[in-house]
Amino acid sequence: MVNEAYAEKRRVYLFGTGGTISFVGANRTDFANYSYGGSQLTIEEMLARVPEAAELADVVAEQVINVGSTEVYPSDWLTLARRINERLAADGDAAGAAVTHGTATLEETAYFLNLTVRDARPVVVTGAMRPPSAMGTDADNNLLDAVRVAAAGQSAGRGALVVLNNEIQAARDVTKTDAYRVETFQSGHVGFLGYADADGGVVYYRRPEKRHTADSEFDVSGISELPRVDIAYGYAGADGTVIDALVEAGVDGIVAAGLGSGGSPAPFMDALQSAVDAGLPVTLATHVGTGRVVQTRRFTEAGYIVADNLHPKKARILMMLGLTQTGGRGELQRMMLEY
Ligand code: ASP
Repeated sequence: MVNEAYAEKRRVYLFGTGGTISFVGANRTDFANYSYGGSQLTIEEMLARVPEAAELADVVAEQVINVGSTEVYPSDWLTLARRINERLAADGDAAGAAVTHGTATLEETAYFLNLTVRDARPVVVTGAMRPPSAMGTDADNNLLDAVRVAAAGQSAGRGALVVLNNEIQAARDVTKTDAYRVETFQSGHVGFLGYADADGGVVYYRRPEKRHTADSEFDVSGISELPRVDIAYGYAGADGTVIDALVEAGVDGIVAAGLGSGGSPAPFMDALQSAVDAGLPVTLATHVGTGRVVQTRRFTEAGYIVADNLHPKKARILMMLGLTQTGGRGELQRMMLEY
């Protein structure tokens, strides 16, 4: 492979967590039931399928967990972030890190790492939409691309990156948009950052503007449990039942995934207002997929935090981390706008 970026082979730490990229199905046309059999490759076995990765980097593989990503929990985010921080801090010569992950919650783990890995070197998260046992699998290509992107010097300083289908996207902006297509990960109007492309190169067209990784204020090294924040979904006829149940359960914060520009029906908003009045931090986001929730006069007077264009799932993660440092609405709002 001719590429100056890899003239000097550097170390890439590769962390396995499971997901479709690791599952073995019953046959080559098992595109849907493969996760029920419980047969999974280890990260070492996945790497052994892609000897080309060794041409790009000295890859050090480590299994963190091996599960479908619906079974990745906030405690696993903490473990993974700590492990990546430890490995990178102990190895100043390493190029970066890569993580294999199920696609269901991939963007959540990636955004958590974007906020908690305190290093400018790349952290690249990948997965697959077709298991390695299936025809036309994207598992091997995506693994190779993740190593390629993590090893490339030009990937540094761009925060955690998500790489599938040859596309490099920012952890903050990317979201899964389709249940089965290989081009499922998209970044809405703001678009992808670059390509791991057909010529073997890694090319970028822009860099993320928001704070991340080395420039982040969040330090999870001493944290064993994250505050609890839940998401309530707004829809026609939604009332306060879910909000009241969350308050009753003693959550530390709520994200409302509202309609359009952030509002929801009056009974839903009334329950949210009661939660705010009782001192609970509440962030208004939108579930339309793209666009901002802004600080309107009504939202500001009512005491809400707004998520700008953060996906409700990402606003939740930022709130969970923010609440490790502050309960103040002003500070949480600052974080929503800065990250
Ligand atoms: N069930 C899988 C998971 O999230 C889906 C995938 O990896 O594509 O682990």
